[in-house]
Amino acid sequence: MKKKNKQVASINCEQAIARFNDYMDNYLKGKTREELIKHIAECKDCMERFEFEQLLKSKVHQFGQMDDNAVKEKIEKLIASL
Ligand SMILES: [Zn+2]
Repeated sequence: MKKKNKQVASINCEQAIARFNDYMDNYLKGKTREELIKHIAECKDCMERFEFEQLLKSKVHQFGQMDDNAVKEKIEKLIASL
């Protein structure tokens, strides 16, 4: 039997990705945070995705500074749909 989905650390990619936003908003604490960091450190796919989402997040922040809520909302929807 071939394993198609690689399991790194104690969570899989799907679980890791689901935690990205919480991590970036500093909602992740203790074990859930450690599991995510460990997964990203060992999984290249998630590392790239995480960096990409962080970049998007900083863009959202920039738009937020412009006080343009419509733009901000648009980007947040984009992130949610990734
Ligand atoms: Zn992964």
